[in-house]
Amino acid sequence: MGHDAANQAGDSPPDVDAVVVGAGFAGLYALHRLRGLGLSVRVFERGEDVGGTWYWNRYPGARCDVESLDYSFSFSDELQQEWSWSERYATQPEILRYLNHVADRFGLRSDITFGTRVVSAVYHEPSAQWVIETDRGHRVTARHAIMAVGNLSVGRVPDFPGLDLFLGQTYHTGDWPTDGVDFTGLRVGVIGTGSSGIQAIPMIARQAAHLTVFQRTPHYTIPAQHHRLDPDWLAAFKQHYADYRRRMRVSRGGLSRDYSERRALETPPPQRHNTYEARWNFGGAEILGSFADLLTDERANSTVAEFVAGKIREIVHDPEVAGRLIPHGYPFGAKRLCVDTDYYETYNRANVALVDVTATPIEAVTPAGIRTSAGEHELDAIVFATGFDAMTGALLAMDVRGRGGLPLTQAWEAGPQTYLGVCVAGFPNLFIITGPGSPSVLSNVVLSIEQHVEWVSDLIEYLRKHDLDWAEARREAQHEWVAHVNDVASRTLFPVGNSWYLGANVPGKPRVFMPYIGGVGRYRAICDRVAAGGYTGFDLGHAGPEEAPVPDAAPVLQPVLHATDAAALADAEGAWG
Ligand code: NAP
Repeated sequence: MGHDAANQAGDSPPDVDAVVVGAGFAGLYALHRLRGLGLSVRVFERGEDVGGTWYWNRYPGARCDVESLDYSFSFSDELQQEWSWSERYATQPEILRYLNHVADRFGLRSDITFGTRVVSAVYHEPSAQWVIETDRGHRVTARHAIMAVGNLSVGRVPDFPGLDLFLGQTYHTGDWPTDGVDFTGLRVGVIGTGSSGIQAIPMIARQAAHLTVFQRTPHYTIPAQHHRLDPDWLAAFKQHYADYRRRMRVSRGGLSRDYSERRALETPPPQRHNTYEARWNFGGAEILGSFADLLTDERANSTVAEFVAGKIREIVHDPEVAGRLIPHGYPFGAKRLCVDTDYYETYNRANVALVDVTATPIEAVTPAGIRTSAGEHELDAIVFATGFDAMTGALLAMDVRGRGGLPLTQAWEAGPQTYLGVCVAGFPNLFIITGPGSPSVLSNVVLSIEQHVEWVSDLIEYLRKHDLDWAEARREAQHEWVAHVNDVASRTLFPVGNSWYLGANVPGKPRVFMPYIGGVGRYRAICDRVAAGGYTGFDLGHAGPEEAPVPDAAPVLQPVLHATDAAALADAEGAWG
């Protein structure tokens, strides 16, 4: 179907300049930005409204674990001045209200087609156009295809035997009913204790008659120490918003507060303990930034792991339950650090039980509940907090084909390969917002989305100004970037955790460390350098019979790309730093 459509693209001009897939943070900003450049844009969104992740993840307790003052758009000072967040960490409903406000304020809805899933995107070489088809029969041609599909948008439910025989209700945290769920009086099971489970468990425990948590791997979680934002404090804060954002842009994680330069192992134990205590009391993922060596040195890492284990023993009354909740076997922070409210306290409730499904694995879902190797747990409802096919799931769910009809699934057979985490060799004018190989999920993703959208729109503007039709990452540039991403990751403890960062949560998925861990400040500098060099590492060209790259349009490989140079990589900064 996709091929036939592509063959029909012919010589006519594209229907729109750009198609954007997704209307979450990334898609909304891409639409606004590209429209601002005078491009015609069509957005397709599978949800019935804007929001992306924040449209679907309506489970009880859903809230962002990046502070609301950081996790919001910075591109418009008017927007950030007029919007007032009510809490330190915003709830899902408040973030969804914010995104609706953004859509209305910038008049974005008229270019968005809701309730529509893109099923294929096929590149037609002679016309240098993408042909996009949807599940509702749309067929649109576009010069540029912007994939703003999110990193965590395809939910995973494990294939337990008997699942379809269960007589109660089942839910996935990432596809929660719009009207909510009332668990009053019910016996509920939650499978999964990652960020979603850890947020939902305390809320469900308060409502349900009984809650059984099925935990495979205990995750590290830090209390949010959540609070409301005082309106006077907020008004004073907003006067310095621009400076605050500037610091975020050059930081490591895209946050206003950055990592300490001190090393845990060089800090006397009492001082180290006080640092952890202060950060624990401050709340949130800040504790990861306590020392510079926590994520690179296992001995340093074990000091923070021991501190958190001590906290769990203090909070949880039953020592045996506390023991089951203490993470082991992987470094602190190597799986996404969770942020909670009353998580460990919840296990002191009489109506909550914790089942270790590593010790007693789930054998089947039965009509009446869940059977583990130790016996059956009777349940009225099961909540799957079992995560996502992260980073590549939504892209590979579409039939994306580049030059020569090459499917993206084939190009990425051994794991995702990108140049700068945004472009793929063989797929001209396809742009992946916060794609694998960019800081994405290891950063404040809203800031990373802004950086990508701006960088991509600058590239599109460059093509237009130079009367060019397409840009395509060169294979050797992509190869060097992938090598650099892997190299930086291998210098940290991250690859040791069997996490979704590696695709380890999806059976059969190739194991590639997907996010770029070199820091958003450094990453931004690299992208800026590539742009300043006339898009080094890219071929740029015209549509039509002579659609070969324009020889002088972009310099050939340039010094910035020599990331595989052994001497350069001797330093973690690398040639990319
Ligand atoms: P997740 O981190 O992948 O956690 C999935 C959980 O399900 C894990 O505990 C996993 O155990 C368990 N699980 C998976 N398959 C299982 C099986 N067959 N049997 C038993 N247990 C199984 O997913 P998530 O909690 O939805 O979070 C995903 C990401 O979304 C987060 O890391 C974060 O980036 C984002 N998120 C953010 C927020 C926030 O901002 N507050 C909230 C929610 C999600 P194993 O660890 O053993 O695999």
